[in-house]
Amino acid sequence: MLRAPILYLSRRRGLQRFVGRQRLTAAVAYRFVAGDTLDDAVRAVAAINSRGATASLDHLGENVAEEPAARAAAQDYLKAFERIAAEGLKANVSVKLTQLGLDISEDLCRGLLRGVLERAQQLDNFVRVDMEGSVYTQRTLDMVFAMHKQFPNCGVVLQSYLYRTEADVARANAAGVRVRLVKGAYDEPADLAYPKKSDVDASFERAMRTLLDQGTDPAIATHDERLIEATKTYARERAIGPDRFEFQLLYGIRRDLQERLLREGYRVRVYVPYGTEWYPYLMRRLAERPANLWFFVGNLLRERRS
Ligand SMILES: Cc1cc2nc3c(=O)[nH]c(=O)nc-3n(C[C@H](O)[C@H](O)[C@H](O)COP(=O)(O)OP(=O)(O)OC[C@H]3O[C@@H](n4cnc5c(N)ncnc54)[C@H](O)[C@@H]3O)c2cc1C
Repeated sequence: MLRAPILYLSRRRGLQRFVGRQRLTAAVAYRFVAGDTLDDAVRAVAAINSRGATASLDHLGENVAEEPAARAAAQDYLKAFERIAAEGLKANVSVKLTQLGLDISEDLCRGLLRGVLERAQQLDNFVRVDMEGSVYTQRTLDMVFAMHKQFPNCGVVLQSYLYRTEADVARANAAGVRVRLVKGAYDEPADLAYPKKSDVDASFERAMRTLLDQGTDPAIATHDERLIEATKTYARERAIGPDRFEFQLLYGIRRDLQERLLREGYRVRVYVPYGTEWYPYLMRRLAERPANLWFFVGNLLRERRS
């Protein structure tokens, strides 16, 4: 019930400024975000690597409205690749096309993405293009599929709540494009996305099976234990080894589950967001789990009293 209103608030820039001014730091945002700087993220990734997991670095930012900000975001990713290489980290990066200027111009975004992919290729690294709201789905897929012909080191994210995803999974598998499968974090209308959670989960399971059978190094990204179990069972039944897919989870969520999967011999990648633009990301995490909201409100009230 709270999901749609929280996701609505996640898009309100005025509220972003208000919340950003509160000193809502360590306890809430930094439960889900590694810190403000690349140094913070590098420290988090080193710790994750030492536990046997890999990482994907997300320098927070989306819906950038000014060209200099889009160019700066691309530069930040180049710096991230340099640090990953210099420190020998086991990490790739995740980018959002609206962070690279998709709302400003497709040409600008394409040029910046190309620069990031070129550097990633030189350093033998990989770029995952996150999936945003449905107004961007087709443009994101078109750009990634076109880029993939020249840069096989890029992959995409598909969201099981969208009706179209089954067809997109088939297309990605045929083209050898690497897919991260997620349920989907945005507020979508019923003509595009399953309104019922049980249907989203069933769609996730169908897509998971197709990806395990025919995909290229698929990533099953969920904290849903039932779907994780379904993935393990399906892989076992089809003799698909743990080297053929990976589980992905978000920084700060279900670390116990990360540890368990690692102990069982599965590959685990942790998505590590960092940076000061954490407001929309935090709101999506709150929308997923209302219990997080009470934690958030409690901290906000304590701050206002202090
Ligand atoms: C690595 C990764 C990358 C992602 N990239 C994208 C992307 O590019 N585009 C996109 O739309 N979405 C993305 N998502 C988010 C995804 O779409 C879901 O919104 C999110 O993963 C929550 O769904 P769930 O699969 O964990 O299942 P749910 O059914 O929502 O949750 C299952 C269980 O997980 C735990 N859990 C879930 N969320 C939280 C939380 N916020 N806090 C605490 N516990 C929680 C709870 O125990 C819950 O019962 C990504 C998720 C992951 C893990």
